[in-house]
Amino acid sequence: MNKNNNEIELLPADVDVLVVGYGPVGATIAALLGRYGVSTLVLDKAHEVMLMPRAIALDNEALRILQLAGLAEDAFAKIVIPQVKMHSPVLGQFGRADTQGCIDGHPKLVTFYQPDLEHALRNQVSRLKSVTSLGGFTLEHLAYEKDCVVATVRDQGGQAQTVRSRYLVGADGASSRVRALIGQEFEGQTYAEDWLIVDVKNRHASAIDHVEFICDPQRPTPHMPAPGGRERWEFMLRPGESRESLESEQSIARLIAPWIDPKELEIERKAVYRFHARCCTRFSKGRVFLAGDAAHITPPFVGQGLVAGLRDAANLAWKLAWVLRGQAAPAILDTYDVERRPHAQAMINLAKLMGRLVMPKNKIAAFATHGLMRLLALTPATRRYFEQLDIKPKNTFRHGLFMAPVRGEKLVQGGLFPQVWVRNMQKHVVLSDDALRNNLTLVGFGVNPKSLLSSEQVAAWVSHGGQFLQISARGQVSEGTCDFIEDLNHEILPLAEKGTIVAVRPDRVIMGHAPGAAAQRLLRDCRTLLFGEWSPSASESFSLKDPVGLRV
Ligand SMILES: Cc1cc2nc3c(=O)[nH]c(=O)nc-3n(C[C@H](O)[C@H](O)[C@H](O)COP(=O)(O)OP(=O)(O)OC[C@H]3O[C@@H](n4cnc5c(N)ncnc54)[C@H](O)[C@@H]3O)c2cc1C
Repeated sequence: MNKNNNEIELLPADVDVLVVGYGPVGATIAALLGRYGVSTLVLDKAHEVMLMPRAIALDNEALRILQLAGLAEDAFAKIVIPQVKMHSPVLGQFGRADTQGCIDGHPKLVTFYQPDLEHALRNQVSRLKSVTSLGGFTLEHLAYEKDCVVATVRDQGGQAQTVRSRYLVGADGASSRVRALIGQEFEGQTYAEDWLIVDVKNRHASAIDHVEFICDPQRPTPHMPAPGGRERWEFMLRPGESRESLESEQSIARLIAPWIDPKELEIERKAVYRFHARCCTRFSKGRVFLAGDAAHITPPFVGQGLVAGLRDAANLAWKLAWVLRGQAAPAILDTYDVERRPHAQAMINLAKLMGRLVMPKNKIAAFATHGLMRLLALTPATRRYFEQLDIKPKNTFRHGLFMAPVRGEKLVQGGLFPQVWVRNMQKHVVLSDDALRNNLTLVGFGVNPKSLLSSEQVAAWVSHGGQFLQISARGQVSEGTCDFIEDLNHEILPLAEKGTIVAVRPDRVIMGHAPGAAAQRLLRDCRTLLFGEWSPSASESFSLKDPVGLRV
C-alpha cells in the first residue's frame, strides 16, 4: 500500500475505475489498467497481503497474464512441476499428467508462494503513475448515477467517504460485498467436508519434486512442493473429526509422520477450509464488474481458482481502458461476461470431476473409479487425454468480441495468439508478447501490414489503439517502416499462409485474420466489433442487439 497504516487518507472524489479488493486479482487488474494509462484507485479493507495458505499452483496461461501485467520472469519464485501423479492405496499409481515443458513461453505448471506473488504485483502497481492503492478502506455501499457509480467506503477512523468512478470492479473475494450490493446470485454448491491445509518449511533437500494426489477414500491427501523449501499437504477431515483437534501440532505431526520425522517437522502455516464450487449468473451489472473469487470459486483440485481470476483481469482491463479512452463503444463491456463466464464454469466443472477422483465416497467407489482410470490409460488416445492435459477446457471463446471462427484453421479466432521466442529490431531475444506491447496489433505474416493499407487506414487503426508488427523468418531483415520480429524457431509462421494478417487484442486473443488482399475488410470488421456497428460477418460471435444492463 502507498501510505503507512496509521495515516487516514482523503480519497480522490473521482476516478475512472475503482477496484475494490487488492488481492492478487485486484492487483493484476490495477497493474493492467495502469499500463493502459487508466486513472485507477484500488482500495482494500486490509493493509497487508493475506498470509493464509491459499493458491500454490499456476499454469502457463496465468504466467502469461502476469507477464502482460508487467511482472518479470524472476519477479517471484517458482518450482517447475514435471508431473502430477494419482495414487490409490489399492491399485498404486493409476493416473499421471505430464506437465513438463512450456506452452506459449511459460512452464505448463509451477508452484509458488502466494504472498510472494502478491508482493511482486503490488510492487509493480506502485510504479504506475495512474494507479493509487490504499489500505484501511472497507466498501459499504454503492449508488448509481447516470454516468458513474458512487461508492461509500469506511476508513479505519470510522469516517465514511465517497468515491465516484466511471466503472467499478469488485475483486473483493469470495464473500464479496460488491456481489451482494449488486444482488448477484452465487450459484453452486458448498462441499460437506473440511480440509486441513498444512505448509511445512525447511524442506529444501527432502521435498518431493512433483505433485501427488493420494486418493485414499479414508483420507484423501494432495501433496506438493513450493518454493523457499516449503512443502504442502492437504488432508480431508473424516466425519466426526473436529477442526480444533486436527489442527493441533500433535495431530499434524501424526498425519505427516509417513513423510517427516515429527522431531524435524516445522509447520509454517495451517488453516482449515471448506471448499465451494460456485459461479455468478452474470459477471457484471451496469457499470459494476465482478472478477476473481467474487465472481467464481472452485475447489482447488486443479489449481485454477486464481488462474481463472487472472483470466478475468486480462479480459476486462483492456476493454475498460479502450472504452474510457473512447477507442471502443461501452457495448464491448458486455463481452466480458459472455467470454469469461462459460470458461470459468467449465473449470469449476473440471475441479468437481477431479474432486470425485480425489475423494471417492468409499472403498468400492474408489476401486471402480481408479480402476477405470487405469484401464483408460491403456489406450493411447485416452491416456493422452489425461496425460497431456487435453481434459483441461481450452481457453477459446465460443461467443464474444472476435470474428466467427472458421473450422480447421490453426489460428483460431476467439482463441489465444501463440507466444514464441523472437528477435526484435534491437537484436534482443524476447518473448513475442513483449513485441505486441499494450496495443491492438495488426500482425503481418511475412508481410508489412502497413503496406496493405492506405495512410488513412493506418491512421484510423492507430486511433483505435492499434499498432503494426511484421513477423518474418529468422534471418530476414526489416525494411524499416514497421515494427519487426524474427520467428527464431519457426513456430508461428507455419500457422498461417505467408501474407496473412492477424488482428490480436491486447489480451492476446485473436480478433480476426484474413489474407493480405482482404486487409481493408479485416480493419473494417475490427472497427465494427469495437464500435458495435453490427455486421453479418461477425454474426455468429456476439449479438449486440440486446446489450444487457449496460446502464443502471
Ligand atoms: C487451500 C486453497 C488452495 C488454493 N490453491 C489454488 C491453486 O493452487 N491455484 C489457484 O489458481 N488458485 C488456488 N486457490 C484459490 C486462490 O487462492 C483464490 O482464487 C485467490 O486468492 C482469489 O484472489 P482474489 O484476488 O479474487 O480474492 P482475495 O485474495 O480473497 O482478495 C480479496 C481482497 O478484497 C478485500 N476485501 C474484501 N471485502 C472488502 C470490502 N468490503 N472492502 C474493501 N476490501 C475488501 C480483502 O481484504 C482481500 O484483500 C486456492 C485457494 C485455497 C483456499
